[in-house]
Amino acid sequence: MRHWVYIGLGANLGQPIEQLQWAVHQLRQLDNCLLQAVSRLYGSKPALGSPSNQSDYVNAVALIQTSLTPPQLLTKLQQLEQLAGRIRLERWGARTLDLDILLYDQQVIDTEQLTIPHKELVNRCFVTLPLLDINPTLTLPNGVKVSSLACATLSDDIHVIRDDDWWKI
Ligand code: ATP
Ligand code: CA
Ligand code: CA
Repeated sequence: MRHWVYIGLGANLGQPIEQLQWAVHQLRQLDNCLLQAVSRLYGSKPALGSPSNQSDYVNAVALIQTSLTPPQLLTKLQQLEQLAGRIRLERWGARTLDLDILLYDQQVIDTEQLTIPHKELVNRCFVTLPLLDINPTLTLPNGVKVSSLACATLSDDIHVIRDDDWWKI
């Protein structure tokens, strides 16, 4: 379990909080993975340009230790998305779980399947704020401190929904 990986979790359909609780629960059960930390739970407005009737997003970040390679981990996460999608497809009609690999140790990966660090990490408050909950001194492979990014403070577009052990079910 020598790799440290930050995973971004997001949902905005169905019952987003329950979806994220379910997802963290699944991460805890994954073979070759150990859950190490979970951020606070955030609500954020859909990006500008999205349909205005879209619900707010719910976001969080989890830190795991794993012996899986990045492609192996991606496959596992996509399986979880599908599993959640299938449940939701019957009840709510759309995909409601997104699991992204944000950082994998300090590795830089750029293949057709995977870009790590995640390509939008530095632009998304709903990613940088939960990352900082887990590790306030987190640094990217290029040396940039996450705390120095523009999106490192709360704003109108993002708020904390829960700061307890929301993920424990
Ligand atoms: P965004 O990447 O902007 O957050 P998204 O999460 O909605 O968008 P998806 O449809 O979930 O995009 O994923 C599309 C593809 O992105 C996946 O099939 C996967 O191969 C690729 N991908 C590239 N880098 C990553 C990463 N770091 N984590 C997860 N998927 C990634
Ligand atoms: Ca995403
Ligand atoms: Ca994704």
